[in-house]
Amino acid sequence: MNVSIIGAGPSGIEAANVLAKQGVAVTLFEKSSSALKNIADKAFLFPNFAAAADIVEIMNKKLLSQNITLKTDTDIVGLVREDNGGWKTVDSKGQSHYSDAVLLATGYTPFDAHRKEELGYGIYGGVVTSLEMEKMIRYDQVVNSLGERPKRVAFLQCVGSRDEKSGNHYCSKICCVTAVKQAIELKKRMPDTEVYVFYMDLRMWGQHFEELYRQSQQEYGVRYVRGRISEAAGTFDGRVQIKAEDTLMGLPLKMTTDLLVLMVGMEASEGTRCLAKATGICGDYGFAQTKDPHIDDCLTAQEGLFACGTCKRPMSINDAVNDGRAAALAILDMAK
Ligand code: SF4
Repeated sequence: MNVSIIGAGPSGIEAANVLAKQGVAVTLFEKSSSALKNIADKAFLFPNFAAAADIVEIMNKKLLSQNITLKTDTDIVGLVREDNGGWKTVDSKGQSHYSDAVLLATGYTPFDAHRKEELGYGIYGGVVTSLEMEKMIRYDQVVNSLGERPKRVAFLQCVGSRDEKSGNHYCSKICCVTAVKQAIELKKRMPDTEVYVFYMDLRMWGQHFEELYRQSQQEYGVRYVRGRISEAAGTFDGRVQIKAEDTLMGLPLKMTTDLLVLMVGMEASEGTRCLAKATGICGDYGFAQTKDPHIDDCLTAQEGLFACGTCKRPMSINDAVNDGRAAALAILDMAK
């Protein structure tokens, strides 16, 4: 059997590894120049602060099997079911590839914070996204718009998720715990910096997440404010003034901060939208739809077409890895 996997993120790599160990010939297509692009610039991963670089190294080693052919810089733009039951993938250069089954692992794209104009992203230097903050932490360059160490940092949750205006009603699942993790990272490096997190609800759904949240308050003094920031504006000295409402106190609030970190949610990637649509498995918000969320969550309505990881919905890296493994088993099951 030979299988095409589209996307060399955590779920795609894990699926490739499991299939290759069972003697399946896998072709892994990746549109970027290297695998694991979404993790490469991360610093540490929640909840145990494992170094992202170590995880990337471990995952990359899984690609060394002779049964896996990794094709980077290859953007799959077409997916067609053949009369013989197999699948044809077509890349942007017009080259075709044939396989018995295809696994979509096309991942997510971060919400574009420019779409929330009122928050000033791209206008004021002190407004950054959670991805940019992660890079700052990783390369030890946490600075404000003037290049100085910030005295105050505010995080804003649910940017582009649970939001009527951006059209995304779903929760992106990982941004709450990411903010808690990043807040701790900042306090470890800069204990004197004040760190605030503005939230609607804090969703600490995973093992050890709740402990992390408590630790952030009790050990590191991170302050949590229930309320949404309605507006951000630049100040003459390069800072950011935010207007919010403390919904627990029922009071309007104004605060000036050196950095405002927008916790951007996950959206279906362009590749996910395009291929899911072309094969008739496009679900809510452009994510790939599977047969059944309980027992057939890696199978799709199309025989021989499978889906795993964040092309289906927002999920954490460890959940995506487990889902890749589940998809590989579903593919092996099909071949029996
Ligand atoms: S995980 Fe938290 S920040 Fe992210 S969308 Fe859900 S509630 Fe909002």
